[in-house]
This record gives sequence, C-alpha cells and structure tokens, in this order.
Amino acid sequence: MNAATLGVRAAARVCVAVLCLLAGATAARANVPFTQSWSPHNRERPVRQSTLYIILHTTEGPAPGSLQKLRDNGEANFFVDPTGRIYAIIDRRRVALHAGRSMWRGRTNMDEVSIGIEVAGYYYQNLTAPQYTSLRALLTELQAQYGIADANVLTHSMVAYGAPNRWHRRSHRGRKRCGMLFASSAVRQKLGLTDQPSYDPDVRAGRLVVGDPYLAQKLYSGSSSKAIASASVMPAASSSRSRAKPAPVVPAAVATAMPPPGEGMLITANRSAWDVARDMYNEPTTRYVFPDGKVANGNQIRNWKSIPPGTRVIIAASESENSEERLQRIGRDGDTAREVAGDEFNTARTIYFLKDGRIRTGAELAAAELDALPAETGMLVGYAQGGAITAKRRAFDVCGVKWNNPSTFYRFPDGSIQSGAQVRENAIPLGTQVFFRN
Ligand SMILES: [Zn+2]
Repeated sequence: MNAATLGVRAAARVCVAVLCLLAGATAARANVPFTQSWSPHNRERPVRQSTLYIILHTTEGPAPGSLQKLRDNGEANFFVDPTGRIYAIIDRRRVALHAGRSMWRGRTNMDEVSIGIEVAGYYYQNLTAPQYTSLRALLTELQAQYGIADANVLTHSMVAYGAPNRWHRRSHRGRKRCGMLFASSAVRQKLGLTDQPSYDPDVRAGRLVVGDPYLAQKLYSGSSSKAIASASVMPAASSSRSRAKPAPVVPAAVATAMPPPGEGMLITANRSAWDVARDMYNEPTTRYVFPDGKVANGNQIRNWKSIPPGTRVIIAASESENSEERLQRIGRDGDTAREVAGDEFNTARTIYFLKDGRIRTGAELAAAELDALPAETGMLVGYAQGGAITAKRRAFDVCGVKWNNPSTFYRFPDGSIQSGAQVRENAIPLGTQVFFRN
C-alpha cells in the first residue's frame, strides 16, 4: 500500500468519524424543526477562541419581531420560537452579540466565551411544551460538543451588569431580568439541567453590588425559584393544548415589578423609573405619559427627580441587547459627572470628551474640574482607552475582535464619534482614538 493510498484511507476514516460525530450530535434534535436563518453579520463575526458557557435569554417581545431584530443585529446564535422551531442566526462557532455589558467570575465581555440562545417569551413566563423539547435537545447537543457543565448554562440576568447611574452609585447586578426563569430549578430539570450556580461570584468578590434584590433572590434561592415554575409546567404535548397560548406563570411580585411591553405601569412614591423600566429607563423608545397627558421619551427627560407620581411608563415591544451603550452627556444623563458615573466618576474607567477637544479619564482630571464640567460634555463609563490608530496599528490591533462591536467607539481627528457598528475598517483616519468596554 503506497503513501497516497494510506492518505486516502486516512482521509476516508476521518470523514466517517466526522459524519458519525455529526450524526450523534444531531440525533438529540432529530425531530426538532430547524431552520438556517443566518444574520447578514454572520460571516464578519470572529470565531470564539474558547466556549465556556451557554447563556439563555428571553426575547421580552413577540416572536416575529424578535427574530427579525436578532437576525438584523446578529444578537444570538440560536432562537427558539413558541412552536419549538430552532433558528440558527449566527454560526455556533462565532461570536454573537447577546450578553452586552456582562461579567461572570471576573471575566467581562461574555459574548467572547459563550453561545447565546434566545427563547421567545418573557422572563416571568413559562415555556411552551415544544420549546422545552427543542431547547433541551439543543442544550444536549451543544453541551456535548463543547463540554459545558450544567452549572455553566447561565441566564442573561446572571451575567448582565449595569454601570453606575443615578440610582446606583456602583457597578451593579440587576441590569436585566432577561431569562430569569431559567434559574428556576423546576424549569432546569425539565431542560435536563441538574446543577446551577448557588451564588453570584462577582457580588461575593465585591466586584459588583446588588442592584435588584428581588432578582438576586430569584436567581440564587432554590426554594423561591421553584415557585416560578411549580405552578405550571406546560402539559406534555397534546396537539390541541400545545397550540393553545401558554398560561403565563406570573408570581405576584414579578407581575407588579415590570409590565409586559406595550402595557403601561405607574411611577409612584416608592417606585422609580428605574424600578419600572430598568436599563430601558432613558431609551428613546420608552415613553412617559404624565398625569396631565403630556408625553416624553426616555431620552428627553432631564430631571428624573421631578417625575410626578401617576406617570405611566410604556416600554417598547422589543429590547435590544446592546442599546444601552452610547456616549452619555452631562445635562442629559445627569447634571454632574457624579450623577452619570456614580462612584466611578473619578476613575480610569470613565472617559471624558471635554468640550475643548481634550480626552481625559476621571483619574486624570482634578476634582474641581470634574465638579464643573459643562453641559454636553461626553462620557463613557466602564471603558478602556485603546489609544490611537496609526499606520502600523489598526483597529483590530487595538481591541481585537471588539473592533466592530456597537459598544466600541471611535473619535475621529475632526471630533466626531462613531460606534464600531458604523465605521468601515479601511476608512478610519490615522490618529483616531479607540475606546472599548472592558
Ligand atoms: Zn438577554
């Protein structure tokens, strides 16, 4: 047998092995409806260097619009609709932008080490029976392929964290309740998951504070998490029932904490805009209807302390996983640097775009200057300064795979600022400064 034949034989064996592997992997979801629905961003997304976690999301919006948005923005690897159909949106090997500002065990930017699965539904609402079947099969396949333990199947609400804002002085857990029900042990059991995190590692280590005690309790107390699902796991598929609208499982405390999108909820003396809208509170798509009938969008409100009780808050139908990252401005997002960036206002993690053109971190500015920053001064909170683009140092050299993320910002020599989603790599002028979330 000559070398060429050996080579052919070996190649054939490899092919057979690969085919067997694929067959085994897909067997779990042999009867699960599956559609390739690639995002236009799929091919430009980098391949992950390692895959340590699976992160589960709820869309917090109706299925058709959610799928469209996830595909347009490349915000998930997979999407599971109410009928159990799985859509592949970003190749499982590639980075999907699903976790936004995130941290777990001190590691940030969880997109780079995780697969994101979006399930059509709401954080407080049980899955449909077909969703349980399909998601369980998909998890089985992905966990086997990447060697991911049950305890490393996380929820977006576990890993998301918020920068300081007017309600929280420090970086905090509780930016999102997305996927909260996937911390319920009853829900996890139905998905074949027998282990889960029992505490928040970043809060325990002091890296973050708790910004949402209710969420923290739901995520890490086994008994209370059972309450979410015990009522109500959907009956196993009988054809008439599985098509019926699932009965929402809404514990009273959750039901009053945040309304389904499109429905208003009132601000009271004890319930702030943050309590109602979370990180959507200052979005242009969040509407405030005041008692006198006037209406304002979240990005138009200046004085958050003066919102009268009885104001109704209406949250847009579908959240974006990355929408909260934008240049903040004094006078819009808070009247002072301390109001915008909390305890991080004077640290190296807060970047100031001064009106005279200088760019400085909070650590570089004197206290007097920080206290007297004029309106419209731009700020980025929780960011690293990457330095300038040069002939030998392109965007990728500065911040790696984050170079074209919507959360990365470029300040051009003419003073204008664009996000990574807007820039064209070959059109970035030399001398442009790069800032990325860290
Ligand atoms: Zn999410």
